Amino acid sequence: MTTSTVKTNLLGLTQLEMEKFFDSIGEKRFRAGQVMKWIHHLGVDDFDAMTNVSKALRDKLKAIAEVRGPEVVSEDISTDGTRKWVVRVASGSCVETVYIPQGKRGTLCVSSQAGCALDCSFCSTGKQGFNSNLTAAEVIGQVWIANKSFGSIPATADRAITNVVMMGMGEPLLNFDNVVAAMHLMMDDLGYGISKRRVTLSTSGVVPMIDELSKHIDVSLALSLHAPNDALRNQLVPINKKYPLKMLLESCQRYMSSLGEKRVLTIEYTLLKDINDKTEHAVEMIELLKNIPCKINLIPFNPFPHSGYERPSNNAIRRFQDQLHHAGFNVTVRTTRGEDIDAACGQLVGQVLDRTRRSERYIAVRELSAENDIAQNAANNN
Ligand code: SAH
Ligand code: SF4
Repeated sequence: MTTSTVKTNLLGLTQLEMEKFFDSIGEKRFRAGQVMKWIHHLGVDDFDAMTNVSKALRDKLKAIAEVRGPEVVSEDISTDGTRKWVVRVASGSCVETVYIPQGKRGTLCVSSQAGCALDCSFCSTGKQGFNSNLTAAEVIGQVWIANKSFGSIPATADRAITNVVMMGMGEPLLNFDNVVAAMHLMMDDLGYGISKRRVTLSTSGVVPMIDELSKHIDVSLALSLHAPNDALRNQLVPINKKYPLKMLLESCQRYMSSLGEKRVLTIEYTLLKDINDKTEHAVEMIELLKNIPCKINLIPFNPFPHSGYERPSNNAIRRFQDQLHHAGFNVTVRTTRGEDIDAACGQLVGQVLDRTRRSERYIAVRELSAENDIAQNAANNN
């Protein structure tokens, strides 16, 4: 009888885990650093290419381990330089990764889950429901794939990816261990060497996990606020019923003070026409945030089919921004990027599904026209 062994995927292992792995197979711990550089700095997934590793060890690794990223289903490049990858994860679902170049900065927006259980009313991922947690290898694999597409440059050189935001699909704090491991790899010099200020976790407000996060890592934090009072936030971000605003803002402040240096919380606020974009909302927001060092990022709603919401006019967006700005806040409006490849915030999975539907429709139309051709030929022949 043969026993099949599951190979260990080295892609998602942190330095500590990699050292333990080499320990467990009777090899020296320094191998961890060597192999991590091949994987993350040079994008190598073939052990035979790891030329500073002995042939005997390479053969051993081939038998028990692998370097496996998620499968790339498609890669699109927008006219504005934005890139979007659709990748398939082990559960069979697809998630998206988006790269947004802006001057010297290149931000990669990474997914943490396929779908999301939190059901925010204006989010297409939420509409899909929860499907699966990504493994650490699938989370860091998105950075690995993007980095390779720029020609795999060492972490010390000028990099295409300068920032990572956990703002793709899913709620990162509900896939805690895997997301934390992947973020360690983003920051590790043996991984991608990105500064802790440039790795940002965005959450809709899972309070106990915000407190837990500070015990593990010191990345930047973004809070998806979207409403300045509990009544409205309960409707837009249902997890607010469990962890209301006061509790939530206190936990964010605890997290920020745990960082022990001058860093500010990012507040994300998706603007929905006539829902949360009025003067009185800005007034409430100013009061709510008056003692919290933060910068505010307004995200004009990105529409998707049947959402029931609209994007406010540019005038309304400007008015809202000005009101906060006059109260002394640092406020930016997120510009929509990559619209031609459906890469804008919150458009992610809706459009994947839509595209599938489009191609199904296309196949149906093609088959129908083939049938018509046959019928036409038959008619002509008669
Ligand atoms: N689950 C996390 C991170 C992923 S969502 C969170 O909610 O923070 C990333 C950001 O995009 C969040 O602020 C989210 O509220 C916002 N977003 C979701 N759908 C959107 C849409 N259709 N238009 C604009 N922003 C949206
Ligand atoms: Fe989930 Fe974030 Fe979408 Fe809410 S906004 S449903 S938390 S992905």
